[in-house]
Amino acid sequence: MDLGLTKKKAIICAASKGLGKACAEALAKEGAEIYICARTPAPLHQAAEEIYEASGQKVTAIPADVTTKEGREALLALCPHPDILVNNAGGPPAGDFRDFTPDDWHKAVEANMIAPIEMIKAVLDGVIDRKFGRIINITSGAVKSPIPALGLSNGARSGLTGFVAGLSRQVAEHNVTINNLLPGPFETDRLRSLFHDEAQRKAVDVGHLWDERKQLNPTKRFGKAEEFGAFCAFLCSCHAGYFTGQNVLIDGGAFPGTF
Ligand code: NAP
Repeated sequence: MDLGLTKKKAIICAASKGLGKACAEALAKEGAEIYICARTPAPLHQAAEEIYEASGQKVTAIPADVTTKEGREALLALCPHPDILVNNAGGPPAGDFRDFTPDDWHKAVEANMIAPIEMIKAVLDGVIDRKFGRIINITSGAVKSPIPALGLSNGARSGLTGFVAGLSRQVAEHNVTINNLLPGPFETDRLRSLFHDEAQRKAVDVGHLWDERKQLNPTKRFGKAEEFGAFCAFLCSCHAGYFTGQNVLIDGGAFPGTF
């Protein structure tokens, strides 16, 4: 299937590894021109090189912290008129909510709610004018089914979800879609570090915890980042204009609901 993405300009935030990088690579393989950011320059440039090698597409790497105004401006200066925006940032730390300070909450809301809203604000009028826009927010399965230790994530991402539910309907008539992708457990550094912390807290072997948790998923495995990227590319395609305002859970069937 031709996804109609040739020469579309795509910004993918937080994309030197994991889910963001997989989205960038999937979009590049479909012919999109890619702009990626992350805070640490070396792995970011390496990711850009790998995506170029896999796709042959131009990749611009911008070292930037997407949770800051300066970082977002640096990104948008190099790609002021994207057709596609994939919002992403690191997830907040796990912990007991009694230990979270107002500063922890501000950081979580800044990264997982305000930063994506500011990026949407910067690109929205352009995609409305050009009558094509695809905006994806990488959120979390925790929005649908809260994870007790990830209170900061459960709370901050729900704010973005509520906002997007309204905005997506306001812009749909312009062939501009806004959807949230909700990952369940995917094999990335983020998941590895969460397991590492949990194993330390519980004083158990991390490998044992990892294998045990896999068995709880209906697929008996964790997701692969490239599976997530492929889904993202389809939602950004010319075929997905009638699909907006949705929260799409990709979790191997872990959420036990009928709908
Ligand atoms: P990951 O493998 O740890 O990758 C995170 C990427 O984001 C890295 O490239 C990192 O590079 C970049 N990044 C982090 N903070 C940034 C910032 N402020 N500005 C710019 N770039 C930033 O994480 P992942 O598993 O792909 O997760 C992506 C998102 O999905 C996270 O919000 C995570 O909480 C959420 N999620 C993941 C899972 C899962 O199982 N993997 C499940 C549910 C939700 P630098 O550190 O160099 O900036």
